[in-house]
Amino acid sequence: ADMPIEELVPAACAKIQDFPKEGILFYDVTTLFADPVAFRRCVDELTDRFAGRFDIVAGVEARGFLMAAAMAYKAGTGVMTVRKAGKLPRDTFTKEYQLEYGSAAIEIHKEDIPAGTGVLIVDDLLATGGTLAAAVHLMHQAKLEVAGVGVFLELEGLGGREAIGSGLRVESLAVA
Ligand code: AMP
Repeated sequence: ADMPIEELVPAACAKIQDFPKEGILFYDVTTLFADPVAFRRCVDELTDRFAGRFDIVAGVEARGFLMAAAMAYKAGTGVMTVRKAGKLPRDTFTKEYQLEYGSAAIEIHKEDIPAGTGVLIVDDLLATGGTLAAAVHLMHQAKLEVAGVGVFLELEGLGGREAIGSGLRVESLAVA
């Protein structure tokens, strides 16, 4: 029960071999979210690592939303959403990025958050870093100050940290 967090995170995820395709080991974080002890420990630990350094938490759709809301509540900050393209009703900044096959795009509203606000960007998992690098790009377009990037789980050997860039603090609770 008192497992170190770097063991708890991968242990609490369901692991699915060959999903969504052959050769991929898929870490399903929804089982961690559903575990009250694991979820609280992860939210507390990731929030503590950036304590006092951010004004708002940005969650990446969709699993990042669940983390961002809990972390913002704990820290007493607001929360914002980084959404998949086509969902936001007002003017947006949009960033397209490459997936293994094809591309995707994420968006934020243009004028919701004042320039210079310190944003902590969170998502469940860092793989190639394409998604989180695109989220960082959006924050810079909106003239927000990126306080850092936080994930529960980082997959090794996919260049995720490098894709996000060396100037930013990237914290993962566990590496697999
Ligand atoms: P990336 O943009 O490559 O860093 O991928 C980010 C998103 O893809 C994460 O938020 C995950 O939801 C998903 N993802 C990529 N690889 C995996 C994996 N092996 N297991 C679970 N989710 C993954």
